[in-house]
Amino acid sequence: MSEQVSGQQRPALQSLDQALARLLAAVSPLAGHDTVATQDALGRVLAQDVSSLLDVPPADNTSMDGYALFAADVSKPGTVLPVAQRVPAGTVGALHQAGTAARIFTGAQIPLGADAVVMQEQCEAVVDASATAGLGSVRVNAPVQSGQWIRRRGEDVQQGALVLRAGERLNAASLGLAASVGAAVLQVARRPRVALFSTGDELVMPGEPLKPGAIYNSNRYTLLGLLQGLGCEVIDLGIVPDKLEATREALRAAAAQADLIITSGGVSVGEEDHLRPAVELEGRLDLWQIAIKPGKPLAFGEVRRGDAPNDGQAWFIGLPGNPVSSLVTFALLVRPVILRLQGATALTPKCYRLRADFDWPRADRRQEFLRVRLNEAGGLDLFPNQSSGVLTSAHWADGLLDNPASNPIQAGQLVSFLPFSELLS
Ligand code: AMP
Ligand code: MG
Repeated sequence: MSEQVSGQQRPALQSLDQALARLLAAVSPLAGHDTVATQDALGRVLAQDVSSLLDVPPADNTSMDGYALFAADVSKPGTVLPVAQRVPAGTVGALHQAGTAARIFTGAQIPLGADAVVMQEQCEAVVDASATAGLGSVRVNAPVQSGQWIRRRGEDVQQGALVLRAGERLNAASLGLAASVGAAVLQVARRPRVALFSTGDELVMPGEPLKPGAIYNSNRYTLLGLLQGLGCEVIDLGIVPDKLEATREALRAAAAQADLIITSGGVSVGEEDHLRPAVELEGRLDLWQIAIKPGKPLAFGEVRRGDAPNDGQAWFIGLPGNPVSSLVTFALLVRPVILRLQGATALTPKCYRLRADFDWPRADRRQEFLRVRLNEAGGLDLFPNQSSGVLTSAHWADGLLDNPASNPIQAGQLVSFLPFSELLS
């Protein structure tokens, strides 16, 4: 989408919401599922609902070490009952006889007929050779209510209940829950294959000497980490020189293997920026100017997989080269795309309203994403240098303050906060 301005192509300025809506409308979930062992499904997106075939817990059980009994048998504290059986976890006791107690241990099934557990701290063992099975007796030193310290069958999950929904990203708690209903394998969306390369003749990989005029390539590491965290299979194409032919070759190699190509740098309109013409020659490209800071230029398009009409194409997203811009545009625009490719239902992070503990008097005309940190008073502090080249700001911060265009902030005001715990994972 561009407009003709005095003979020159000037990309149209659009809002973040518009850009995101266009990206999400353009891509659709990838076909194909993987069946993976539950323990290997961390971070994947569930492709099929998980329902429980059983109650969890499967039977009433005790949440305390103590004595199981029939509450009505303890008319008052001090009552002594013979101990009729011993029920460790993993065993099933005998039918409970009225007027007795069962020694019982956390997690053990409640013997049928008992309706309460008294914790052992409120009991005293009474040695009594004449008692049943040589287990002695117990003095119950506290009043007893029917149902106490019993975890009910099905109180966590009921048979037939939907426990995990397709589209959910699996975290440690989801995997534990799946296991608790006996799921040994899960159906998950296939991993998106993402080709990644950085452009820039000034870039050098860590581990190599820094020649004059060079800087280390940090975006590769940031983007690699972000992609891996989102469950992608990354095809790392390293650094591509600022040359048209080299860029075209890299794009062809990327498209042959990947669902999506992500690049950093070279999307401005400088004469050393070859990505735009290269993508135009290898496919189709829109250069977007998004009204956000940091960020602004973003390239979106497609790269053909071959010359035949049904060879298909890979999606292409070109991020700006400045390290913070690259991280922020990935978090706000690429992350939702990658989640959508996996059929995820939650695509954008939760936003929290928090108090700014600083002034920001000279707001930009674009929507700004300020690097801020949570303080112990429940407010937000601002990193002093908000330049898009200062990666320290992102490392220091706990998230981004999403500030509307032209909105000066006064200390004490409520603002919108997007935590990195969501944005960067
Ligand atoms: P560009 O978008 O290529 O014009 O780059 C904008 C700024 O980001 C320049 O200062 C580049 O040196 C810097 N830059 C580009 N790519 C990287 C990268 N991979 N790692 C660190 N800095 C980069
Ligand atoms: Mg460059």
